[in-house]
Amino acid sequence: MGIKILTEHINVPGIETLEVYRKHGGYKSVEKALKTMSPDEVVEEVKTSGLRGRGGAGFPTGMKWSFLAKPEGVPRYLVCNADESEPGTFKDRWFMEKNPHALVEGMITSSYALGANTSYIYIRGELLFVLRILEKAIAEAYAAGLLGKNILGSGYDLDLHVAPGGGAYICGEETALLESLEGKRGNPRNKPPFPAVKGLYASPTVVNNVETIASVPWIVNNTGAEYAKVGIGRSTGTKLISASGNINNPGVFEIELGVPVEEFIYSDQYCGGVWKGKQLKAVVPGGSSVPILPANLILKTAAGEDRLMTYESLSDGGFVSGSMLGSGAFIVFDEDQCIVRNTWNYARFYHHESCGQCSPCREGTGWMEKVLHRIEYGHGHQQDIDLLVSVAKQIEGNTICPLGDAAAWPVASAVRHFRDEFEWHIKHPKEATAPGAVYRGQLA
Ligand code: NAD
Ligand code: SF4
Repeated sequence: MGIKILTEHINVPGIETLEVYRKHGGYKSVEKALKTMSPDEVVEEVKTSGLRGRGGAGFPTGMKWSFLAKPEGVPRYLVCNADESEPGTFKDRWFMEKNPHALVEGMITSSYALGANTSYIYIRGELLFVLRILEKAIAEAYAAGLLGKNILGSGYDLDLHVAPGGGAYICGEETALLESLEGKRGNPRNKPPFPAVKGLYASPTVVNNVETIASVPWIVNNTGAEYAKVGIGRSTGTKLISASGNINNPGVFEIELGVPVEEFIYSDQYCGGVWKGKQLKAVVPGGSSVPILPANLILKTAAGEDRLMTYESLSDGGFVSGSMLGSGAFIVFDEDQCIVRNTWNYARFYHHESCGQCSPCREGTGWMEKVLHRIEYGHGHQQDIDLLVSVAKQIEGNTICPLGDAAAWPVASAVRHFRDEFEWHIKHPKEATAPGAVYRGQLA
């Protein structure tokens, strides 16, 4: 089954209570870090572990922590990004709901490492029921002396708050999140300065994803060197994957990084194969912000090597700048799914969620939605295909925040890999708009 760093005890009845959580080794990392380690030693362990940001960007966590500015007399903050809103991503909600103390423990140990005395969990506004679960866990931790003044007699103080988000996807972008936490409209800020230098209330701030923070206790308890032995190459550790779409076993899986994609799709331990034994058409491996790949390219790289579930193997040869592992939202499409309709659906989402600050994103997402709508509904023109690529190119790299790129890549990759399906919609509008019609040319 592979090593379970985050989910070993997740199905233990009552694990959401402090009593049961502690019976299973909970809060050991707080005792170890606060009583036997200096903050810098904790940072060093996280650096050694090779842990990378699990929200989607995969930025090395220890490096981010060591960038944190430390001006004299200025507070520092740790903010947990629990505003999980990426289409297809539901691992953080699942994790917080089942094992809230694991996040609280990670927040205490990580805040200690960073020298933060006030920390926040910014949770997606729609998840009010999870907010209540977290508040209960935090209240239990305060009552047990694990939060508040002089934690476990160590002299370290920490207050931890949960703040609900405003219900906008863009509030998951770290600087928009900070604006929202400050009580303002969630508009992304220009970077640099990065939050590590100027973040919450203009103070040095680390923003980390739920899963990233929840991985820290294991690293402190077992050492960074042990964590680095799990996984493969620069993709160390385990990753929570939200698997959805046309598969037999949808849900959240903790995988050791390095599992072959083919095994992840077809093994009963994970997705259990394509639903009803149908043919695999495409996969979006890391949430809607990454490109869509056709079946042949998701199982093997262009060089013919097996694709692995790692940051490195899930790359697109430079077509996009980041890794396609993203937030770990693995969405599977079977032979009956229409790529044009799906791409239009994504475009609609990004147009709706664009904050409107930059023209390429505000206008471009709207144009992509309109053009895709007319292709899907049988009114497209041949030149629309290149128009889509041109609009996507003009958005990419020209915006304040990554939402612009995230909107452009699904469209550009769909046209790149499924151009014949777009052409079929335009050339055969009657067939394409018939109920249940799907282009299967690529599958032949
Ligand atoms: P990013 O690569 O711009 O930054 C990653 C992190 O590193 C940030 O915290 C940033 O502050 C920090 N950083 C980078 N360079 C730095 C420097 N020189 N000094 C100090 N800090 C530095 O990416 P991002 O905007 O944080 O995230 C984009 C990703 O988010 C996308 O790839 C997408 O997969 C993912 N995403 C996830 C969700 C979700 O619900 N989980 C939603 C939308 C997008
Ligand atoms: Fe807003 Fe889009 Fe610009 Fe991001 S890229 S700041 S969402 S307009």
